[in-house]
Amino acid sequence: MGIPERRSMSGKLSNRVAVVTGSTDGIGFAIARRLAQDGAHVVVSSRKQQNVDRAVAILQTEGLSVTGTVCHVGKAEDREQLVATALEHCGGIDVLVCNAGVNPVVGSTLGSSEQVWDKILSVNVKAPALLLSQLLPHMEKRGGGSVILVSSIAAYTPSVELGAYNVSKTALLGLTKTLALELAMKGIRVNCLVPGMIKTNFSKMLHKDEVFWKRFKENQRLQRIGQPEDCVGLVSFLCSPEASYITGESIVVAGFSPRL
Ligand code: NAP
Repeated sequence: MGIPERRSMSGKLSNRVAVVTGSTDGIGFAIARRLAQDGAHVVVSSRKQQNVDRAVAILQTEGLSVTGTVCHVGKAEDREQLVATALEHCGGIDVLVCNAGVNPVVGSTLGSSEQVWDKILSVNVKAPALLLSQLLPHMEKRGGGSVILVSSIAAYTPSVELGAYNVSKTALLGLTKTLALELAMKGIRVNCLVPGMIKTNFSKMLHKDEVFWKRFKENQRLQRIGQPEDCVGLVSFLCSPEASYITGESIVVAGFSPRL
């Protein structure tokens, strides 16, 4: 990947560097685009080189300052490469959005094999914490930063189809609280985006299922499926100085509220 063009972007995130995992498609791609539109230099990443190349090319064509690298968040060496890319091409790190998440099977919690549990917990829960620990010294050098974890509405209203995934996304609410507490003294805020049903490849199996869709609409107050762009305004705000007194918060973007 080439060095990102350093156009002087004005905006609330100008001169910031943002690392977004799982950002070549869906919600992560929309977040990467928005943070770059806000003036940040964005490091795009995902598992497949051709997806990284495609996403970087699209965003650079739009005049945005992005670079990219392959990073499977479950692999330590890929996480190291992601950090190295941000430092080498952008000179530091201010924002981390942990968006990559997987759900390899549809089925119950107790029906999940050990292999399935390991994969879901490794990618969805362990990887954000491990990546943040690798980035932390560099964020501290910049005097603080902002971290966004991406959970799911399944954390609050679990679906029977999504057993272990529900649990992993609930764990992220706890991780948000714990990290917010641990990192407050370092000037690092940690908040959580909690998307509802968003139209992406990841949710295709559900939003194409007529029975699920009917049940969904009965419970869904705004009567529409979300788009990846519905998530980006919140992330942009939480990463910006406008949210400087907000940490440890989880905010639902779902067209309804599942809690008091
Ligand atoms: P998506 O459209 O399928 O995009 C997933 C992105 O993540 C792709 O860029 C993919 O690229 C990358 N990726 C997948 N596994 C990865 C891994 N192990 N390491 C690094 N990158 C990886 O998915 P999405 O719907 O935007 O979902 C994004 C996040 O939102 C997930 O955490 C998901 O749990 C959460 N979420 C989604 C919904 C929804 O309705 N869509 C609802 C609630 C929460 P590669 O294939 O190149 O790796």
